[in-house]
Amino acid sequence: MADAQHTDPELEADDGPQEPELDPEVLERRRRALEQVVQFGDPVLKSKAMIVTEFDDALRAEVARMGELMHDSLGIGLAANQVGRLRRLLVYRVSEDGPVQALVNPEIEWASKDKEWSLEGCLSLPGVHVDVERPIHVRVRAQDAGGDGVLVEASGLEARVIQHEMDHLDGVLILDRAPRDQRREAMRALRERDAPA
Ligand code: ZN
Repeated sequence: MADAQHTDPELEADDGPQEPELDPEVLERRRRALEQVVQFGDPVLKSKAMIVTEFDDALRAEVARMGELMHDSLGIGLAANQVGRLRRLLVYRVSEDGPVQALVNPEIEWASKDKEWSLEGCLSLPGVHVDVERPIHVRVRAQDAGGDGVLVEASGLEARVIQHEMDHLDGVLILDRAPRDQRREAMRALRERDAPA
């Protein structure tokens, strides 16, 4: 986190790949995982997710599936909207060997006045990286997959990923937070990508 150089590739993680020289097998797994992640243009990404009320096996299965998809796509976070489910559920993992964290019905209880800009990417917007300003520290109240209350105090990259994923639950994308010129550039790139060859 202290290493600014490191922040974007990771965040490009939520979305993002650690580009350089990946094993072909890893890349193939990533390609297949990304096919299951909802891509820009789908209205589900602009929709608000609903409160989760049932903490059942189906929810735990959803958490497990999202954790796997995040892992395979080399992301560091994934929100339910991105798998086509409008439920207030997100998963993230900021350290490669750490456990996958799942937050259900997360609410920001407190955010620092201190903010910083950093480059972010998104699994739903491949190839797009824009600067986003966010509070450096947050305190988030949520539930775990079993319905128990959890309180997360996060800073730096972890705080950023959580806020990025929480934005998804409200139908907000990094494009909505990017400086105008970067947003315009990104929209152009996305249109070109979607245009028939
Ligand atoms: Zn995202």
